[in-house]
Amino acid sequence: MDDASHSFQEEGRPDWVEVDLPALVDNFRQVVRRVGEGVRVWPVVKANAYGLGALPVARALQRAGAAGFCVALVEEGEALRAGGVTAPLMLLSGPVAGNVGRVLRIGAEAFLITLDDALALAGALPAGQRLRVHLKVDTGMGRLGMDPEQVPQVLSVLDGLPGIKVAGIASHLAVADEVDNPGTLRQIERMKALLAHPEVVWRRLPVSMANSAGIMAFSEAHFQWVRPGIHLYGGSPFFPAASPAGWEPRPVVRWCTRVIQVRNMAAGTPLGYGHTVVLQRPSRIGQLPVGYADGYPRILSNRAEVIVGGRRVPVLGRVCMDLVTVDLTDCPDVGVGDEVVLLGGHGPLAISLQEMSAWMGTIPYEVLCRLGARVPRRYREFPVATGM
Ligand SMILES: *Cc1c(COP(=O)(O)O)cnc(C)c1O
Repeated sequence: MDDASHSFQEEGRPDWVEVDLPALVDNFRQVVRRVGEGVRVWPVVKANAYGLGALPVARALQRAGAAGFCVALVEEGEALRAGGVTAPLMLLSGPVAGNVGRVLRIGAEAFLITLDDALALAGALPAGQRLRVHLKVDTGMGRLGMDPEQVPQVLSVLDGLPGIKVAGIASHLAVADEVDNPGTLRQIERMKALLAHPEVVWRRLPVSMANSAGIMAFSEAHFQWVRPGIHLYGGSPFFPAASPAGWEPRPVVRWCTRVIQVRNMAAGTPLGYGHTVVLQRPSRIGQLPVGYADGYPRILSNRAEVIVGGRRVPVLGRVCMDLVTVDLTDCPDVGVGDEVVLLGGHGPLAISLQEMSAWMGTIPYEVLCRLGARVPRRYREFPVATGM
C-alpha cells in the first residue's frame, strides 16, 4: 500500500478500507485484561463487525481466544458458520420463534425477550430439539426485554417446557458511556436484586450486562461474560468524552483513496453542485473518486478535511455520490495518483473516528456502519514468523 508504483491506473477504483487485524486483537486483549480471569469475552460482530467484515474479524478474534460471538440476526450467524467460524454464537435480537430451525442449524444460543416468544418457541421447536436461551431483562434501558419482576414467572413457565433451556440472564446498559451517570449503578443494583430473588438465586445463572463502556468504566457490570463491540474496532464508546486513561482503543481502520485529477482554477470559480463555494484565490483543485455512495456523508460538504502530501487539506463544495473535491493549493507537490487518507492515521497526522463523528454530528459506531458495501476491505494480517 506504500508502493509508489501503485498508480491510480490500478485495476478498479482507488478507494479502500484497511482493517488492522493486529490492532483489533490488541483491543480484544485489552478487554481480556480489563475483565480479568474468569470473565468470558464474546465480541459483538453484528452488522458485518460494524462494517469491517465479520468473517476476517471473527477469524482473527477466534484465534485470539474469543469465547463466542454475538450477532443481531440469524443470517449474520449463518454467514459466520459458512465462513468456518466454529465458536459459540449468541443472537442478541429477538424474537426467535420464527427462525427456530435456522437458529438450531447454526447451533446458536439466543436472547429471549418475552414470555410470548418463549411459548411460540416451544410450539415451533422440532421434537427432541433443545435451545439454550438467556432471559433478556430490561434493568433500565427502557427498550427490549422483560421487566425483572416477570422473571420468576417466566422461569417457572419455562421449567415446564423441556425444549427450552434457560442458560443465563442478560441485560443492556443505557448510560455506561457517561461514567458519572448514576443510571448504570442503578441498573446493576436491579440486576443484583433479581439475582437474589428466591426463584432465581439457586439457579446460579450466568449473567451478562456490559458493552464496551460498561467493560471499561464499571467493573461491577462484568458478571460472568461481557459483550464488547466498538472498543474492538478502535472507536471510543465514551465520545464526545474521553476514554478512561489507559483504556483508549488502538485505531483499527484507515480509509484511503487517490487523487484522480488536479486542475488549476482561477479565483472566482464556483465549485460543484449548488456552487456552494467560490474560490477566493487561484487554486489547485483535486478530485477524489469517493462519495456518499461509499459512506462519505454529504454532511461533510465544506466541512471535513483529508490528509494528503503530509498535511490536512479541506473538502470543498458538496460531497457527491462518487466524487469529493479537495483544495490542494497548499501542497503543490501532490499530483494524480497520490494517496489520500479520509479516515485514520498517516504518519504523525490522523483523522480519528472521533473527529469524523464530530464533523458528522454522530458517534463512531455510525461512521463505521456507514462505510459503503462497495468499498473493498483490505486486511493487515499478523507478520508471518520467519522461523529465525
Ligand atoms: C451492540 C451491542 C453490544 C456492543 O456494544 P458496544 O457499545 O459496541 O460495545 C453489546 N450488547 C448488545 C445487546 C448490543 O446490541
